[in-house]
Amino acid sequence: ALTLSKKAMAVKPSSTLAITAKAKELKSQGIDVVGFGAGEPDFNTPDNINEAAIKAIHDGFTKYTPASGTDELKKAVCAKFASFNKLHYDPNQIVISNGGKHSLTNIFSAILNHGDEVIIPAPYWLSYPEIVKLADGVPVYIRGEKDQGYKVTAQQIEDACTDKTKAFILNTPSNPTGMIYTREELEAIAEVAVRKNIYVVADEMYEYLVYDGEEHVSIASLNDEIYKRTITCSGLAKSYAMTGWRIGYTGSSKEIAKLMGSVQSHETSNPNSIAQKAAVEALLGPQNTVDTMRDEFNKRREYMYNRVKNISFISALEPKGAFYLFVDISELLNKEYKGEKIGTVDKLAKVLIEDYNVAVIPCEDFGFDDHIRLSYAISVEQIEKGLGRIENFVNTLK
Ligand code: PLP
Repeated sequence: ALTLSKKAMAVKPSSTLAITAKAKELKSQGIDVVGFGAGEPDFNTPDNINEAAIKAIHDGFTKYTPASGTDELKKAVCAKFASFNKLHYDPNQIVISNGGKHSLTNIFSAILNHGDEVIIPAPYWLSYPEIVKLADGVPVYIRGEKDQGYKVTAQQIEDACTDKTKAFILNTPSNPTGMIYTREELEAIAEVAVRKNIYVVADEMYEYLVYDGEEHVSIASLNDEIYKRTITCSGLAKSYAMTGWRIGYTGSSKEIAKLMGSVQSHETSNPNSIAQKAAVEALLGPQNTVDTMRDEFNKRREYMYNRVKNISFISALEPKGAFYLFVDISELLNKEYKGEKIGTVDKLAKVLIEDYNVAVIPCEDFGFDDHIRLSYAISVEQIEKGLGRIENFVNTLK
């Protein structure tokens, strides 16, 4: 019969897309929309990286590569893991994929069996639950409340463990909260993961974007036991303004890397050969552009955080990493707008885009239905304009 996949149909289409589509539509009508939705740097990919890709094309580096990535890029990733993360992997422990999202997909394909539970701390990046479900896993949620800095404790993880628990997802710095886990917090989490004998999937996509002199710590670097159980995942998208190039990578045990590589060999084969050459240049070439972009994000972060602090009825904790401000709008939900209670975060986002031309991400699908996410991967001028509009809106409320 012509039925469809139940698994595919169960995937939740992203609510953020509705807002983004609306923002696009308004823009195409010539309306000046401020978009706080961006999940990508607004900078161009640095020139040296672009040049490496152009050279790859001229050199004819345009054929299939080994499915799990070139040896050259794996070695570059090993060098970066060693110097930046204090993590020692051999090239046969590395898998290069089509972006961090693909790396995560491969990880869960490699470790999950039907019904295995994966502990996901909320607020979470909205793709985690769907990626886990597509790999036949069962998401189990725990909550990092605001008074915990939106982070979960080792005790919460321990309490959520059952005999079906297979893995825990750790995202530091976090999308959507911008929080980072300290070395002490990670040590406690590692202790539980080792004792409960579960995998840690460490998504460190935003590792280079850390501010205020805070330290990014890779959980796998803490000791041998946690190293064995951790799959460390990162990519080029956020740090090198390379979202469109689609290069992500993992460091794991040889066994897991082998499984991920064989899954990938049938699903997609190698990631784009040209992008792999560009990635080698990104990782081994001059790093000053990374610093320049981070400094710029930092200015925007400070501006946005300080400005939001002074807007009534909303509040945020100071983010320490990534490029998002996670804003508590719970007080707004009980306010009336045009004679009607605002009620839900989706309604709030709808009002903001339609009446104030500001696109924000409602975080219901990130596990927090009374928060919005504002990206500061846009210019200070845009941030200023957008927050001005949000302020105007809030000032109409009593
Ligand atoms: N992990 C997190 C937390 C992210 O925010 C993203 C992108 O938004 C990714 C992974 C995946 O990045 P990409 O697939 O673009 O490399």
